[in-house]
This record gives sequence, C-alpha cells and structure tokens, in this order.
Amino acid sequence: MIIAGMVMIVIGLFGWACMHFAVGYRITDLTLGLSYISGTFKKLTYLYIFFIILLIAGIIVYAVGVYKKKTRDQLSRIANMGQGGRQKNICPSCGLNLMEGAKECPRCHTVINE
Ligand SMILES: [Zn+2]
Repeated sequence: MIIAGMVMIVIGLFGWACMHFAVGYRITDLTLGLSYISGTFKKLTYLYIFFIILLIAGIIVYAVGVYKKKTRDQLSRIANMGQGGRQKNICPSCGLNLMEGAKECPRCHTVINE
C-alpha cells in the first residue's frame, strides 16, 4: 500500500510537471503524442487536473499505508514478546508491565508463554 501510494505520487508529480510544462508553455506535448491544437488545450487541462487528483490520492494512500504499518508493527512487537522482541515482560493482552519471569498477568490473568 505504501509502494502503491509512492507510485501514485511519482506518476502524479511527473504527469503534473509534464502538464505544467505543456499547458504553461503551450508547446507540443511529445510524451502524449498530442499536437497542440485549440481542442487539445482542454484535454491537457483535464489531464492536469487528473494528475493533481492522482498526486493527492497518492499522498492519502501513502499516509494511510504508513499509519496501518505503524499499527501493525506495534501489534507484532507485542506478539513477539519472548521471541527476542524488545517488548519483553509486557502482557500481550492488556499491556501491563510484568515482573521478570511472570507466568500470568496479575491484571487480566493472561498466561504468559516465554
Ligand atoms: Zn494483562
């Protein structure tokens, strides 16, 4: 999802730059094979808007992807308790700090498997 967002941002930025150049300088857009005629300007404007939307959508997808990954990483860190993960001596169920070598969580009574 992060990669998809990045791809969208890159395509969006690239397309936006192309459109900006083509619309701004009113030259023939070689990348799209469109010769500049009055009707093409309208098409270019639509493409320009499309690329901006793609860019914004890409940023949103990227942000959501990063947020989800962060949550997933946190969950896996807790799940990795006792398997060399950093979150040792923390209850996997309620997150309570446990004493070294505790067999059961004193708050929620989750059995700790080390
Ligand atoms: Zn607990």
